[in-house]
Amino acid sequence: MKEHLFADHPREHCGLFSVFGVPGAAQLIYTGLFALQHRGQEGAGIATSAGAKVHSTKGEGLLNEVFTVRPPTALPGHLGIGHVRYSTTGSSRPQNVQPIVCECSDGLWALAHNGNLTNAKRLRHIYQDSGAIFQTSTDSEILMHIIADPQYRTRTRRVERALSELEGAFAFLIMTKHSVMATRDRFGFRPLSIGRLGQGYVFASETCALDQVGATFERDVLPGELVVVDEKGIRSSTFCEPVAGPLGQCIFEHVYFARPDSIVFGQNVHETRIKLGRQLAREHPVAADLVMPVPDSGNEAALGFSQASGIPMDYGFIRNHYIGRTFIMPEMAQRQDSIDLKLAIVPGVVRDQRVVVVDDSIVRGSTCKRRIAALRRAGAKEVHMRVSCPPVRHPCFFGIDFPSSGELIAAGHSVPEIRDYIQADSLAYLSLEGLLGAFEQPGDFCTGCYSGKYPVAVTEEHSKQDLEKT
Ligand code: SF4
Repeated sequence: MKEHLFADHPREHCGLFSVFGVPGAAQLIYTGLFALQHRGQEGAGIATSAGAKVHSTKGEGLLNEVFTVRPPTALPGHLGIGHVRYSTTGSSRPQNVQPIVCECSDGLWALAHNGNLTNAKRLRHIYQDSGAIFQTSTDSEILMHIIADPQYRTRTRRVERALSELEGAFAFLIMTKHSVMATRDRFGFRPLSIGRLGQGYVFASETCALDQVGATFERDVLPGELVVVDEKGIRSSTFCEPVAGPLGQCIFEHVYFARPDSIVFGQNVHETRIKLGRQLAREHPVAADLVMPVPDSGNEAALGFSQASGIPMDYGFIRNHYIGRTFIMPEMAQRQDSIDLKLAIVPGVVRDQRVVVVDDSIVRGSTCKRRIAALRRAGAKEVHMRVSCPPVRHPCFFGIDFPSSGELIAAGHSVPEIRDYIQADSLAYLSLEGLLGAFEQPGDFCTGCYSGKYPVAVTEEHSKQDLEKT
């Protein structure tokens, strides 16, 4: 079996945060983005306005590397949008960091995007053929070009029309010097919530960021909805017909991406993961002495496994929080080197024990294999892997940076083959039915990367470098 080079988790996508109607918006956006840093570590940016012009600062790296002066005094104003980025389309380079700021005939606009547009290549070619010049290689920028079309009288109508041309997954924050807009695609792939802060409004990819700034959760932006906030107040409109069938909310947000202290798609992530762990224990019991999570995203599922199985839980892995997550470093070699520094083993916990290791996913398998070998070196008697979702066998076209099918270990190998490769004593995954059973509205979730059935047909092949010119 081919040796895999990357970490065993898909990489993050992006995080969005916005404020309207609160003085010192930049500091709040900084704080909100800080709570969303787990969603992207390649770049960060903030754009604000005090009503006269749009100011922006952005750069590559973590938020505190980009904003070394705090509070960000160069960004005045009571409204603004912010973004933390992991690239799912477009390479890791400074021009691709968001918010993207463009000058249209009526002034500066800025936008920030989470998701992946599945018709971006075609739209971009149409605009380029008519002379448009793109400043980034992201899919997100196409929205700005469509918005710039001056034939519609009001700004809201222009944005609605532009959004209706997009296919795929998106949560967008858009701002002018006077207003902030928030929207989600018609299937609702990516989350976006609305909160209140005093007389002002706040928008965030996850509710943990609302909590971080002291805002109160109000509701989610609805699929197909455009919410506009300006000096006249808050207004809502729809830019498309509602989908006839179920929604396509990304189930992986609950399995892995979102922070456990968030409510995503109306459901508490912490509680969902505990349910997944309990169901995993019911489906795949094993005789063992100890349940241990792969921290941090396996913590809740391990707790649930322990509760349902009666096997005590302990922390056999210790995460080094100062090295960062492995995918922060885009180079393969860097990632390879950092993997073993990230999690240390507590020998006294695992020695002479039959351990159940609970993780939220196995994508390529290489990291898992290395960790199992390390557990055996530390004296573990048996190592049983339990995964709190089904095998990831299919690519994601909607904003999650899974490797191609050829690199997904479960795409080409059976569970026993994967078990042999990672050298576990046993390996078992949660069933798709077991996963869906943890949700109140199971029909409204995308499960494409497990089932191969996507909520919407994908008309363009997608690769991260699609819009890149050499
Ligand atoms: S394919 Fe998987 S990762 Fe992508 S949107 Fe669907 S559930 Fe989420």
